[in-house]
Amino acid sequence: MSHVVSLFIKYCSIPSQSDPRNAGEVPSSASQFDIARAMRDDLLAVGARDVTLDEHAYVTAHWPASPGCEDLPTLGFCCHLDTAPQSYGDPVRPQLLRYEGGELVIGIGRDGREVTIGPDTNPRLAHMVGWTLVTADGTSLLGGDDKAADAACIALLQRLRDDPTLPHPRLAFAFVPDEEIGHGAALLDLDSFGARWGYTIDGGPLGEICYETFNAAEALVRAHGLSVHPGTAKGVLVNACEALMRFNQMLPPAERPELTEGYEGFYFLDRIEGSCEYAEADYIIRDHDQAKVERRKELMRAAARLVNRQMGSEVIELEIRDQYHNLADVVCLPENRHLIDRARAAFEACGVDPFFVPMRGGTDGSQLSFRGFPCINLSACYHNAHGVREFVPVPELERLVDVLVALVGIHARPVVSDRDAG
Ligand SMILES: [Zn+2]
Repeated sequence: MSHVVSLFIKYCSIPSQSDPRNAGEVPSSASQFDIARAMRDDLLAVGARDVTLDEHAYVTAHWPASPGCEDLPTLGFCCHLDTAPQSYGDPVRPQLLRYEGGELVIGIGRDGREVTIGPDTNPRLAHMVGWTLVTADGTSLLGGDDKAADAACIALLQRLRDDPTLPHPRLAFAFVPDEEIGHGAALLDLDSFGARWGYTIDGGPLGEICYETFNAAEALVRAHGLSVHPGTAKGVLVNACEALMRFNQMLPPAERPELTEGYEGFYFLDRIEGSCEYAEADYIIRDHDQAKVERRKELMRAAARLVNRQMGSEVIELEIRDQYHNLADVVCLPENRHLIDRARAAFEACGVDPFFVPMRGGTDGSQLSFRGFPCINLSACYHNAHGVREFVPVPELERLVDVLVALVGIHARPVVSDRDAG
């Protein structure tokens, strides 16, 4: 078994789900310290510098530049330690299975039924006949999201240690908790991290590059009604639920998550509850184009005004807040654009066809890029994330280490132009 695969299996075996019910604390679950300690120990063992594990389970480390590259900007990598709370995550029993084509039974689920993966639901499997896959045993998710990336980073350092002739700038690593519940790198101290730019590694199939995310806003709609006995309500009663329903009907019916894909944005009614007296609803607004987000906000305000006019009072109250922005606004600036070109070049240098995916969500990079650490997202080679059918193909994971070695090598050259192709 290769070094990266044995690391990966070790990390997957350490349960570390984040817990949305405890989102006020970082980490949200004590188990994240277990994986954090394992990462710290492996960083120390491989010879990383400045290895720290703080009280919030953030693990950080540096790796000195190769001779002659000391003046280049520090290149950063950020991955997460937690696994998704949406599925079973404890215990995790990783296994190696050879894929022979067709449906592969990975185990018996907690409901007593066989858990299978196959090309019908994963067309990429058709190209993996004869490959070894890492899966869980059907009773839990695997945690390849994002432990494949954690393992690949340690394996990268092992390669750099074993071959001191490999060129690279100074490297910085951050392994962060609670990404799956929206905290991620929020408490990462970027000053001590010290990276000029870099990459998050938290994506799907090998070759995936993501430098576009949604712009995100959320809206809280409050409806203040006036409840009286319905028998004597004429001209007096104001129904808060009715007001919310009118408001919702004024939003474009086709612009919903279940009807959109690619670059199409949406409104999502995430929660609604209430009574005649008082009702409230949560919406999220998403679009890759900030101007379209602004138009959606304006349409919501207009809908609120119209309901209020129809119902004759200030029934609807609307509060809109920005959440995060499309990281393309930062990483496509001329001085950062090389991150994309160099990632593409690193994949190509390893015989992998890169492909670009506009993420319909955010990444740790969405906040980090706006805080001063421009970073795009690379594949971590997990498939079927957040469920018991998750798997990581061994050939992809091993190649990812090659890609990272190539990538740090490409960054061992100064950025010479705004279209540096590496
Ligand atoms: Zn992830």
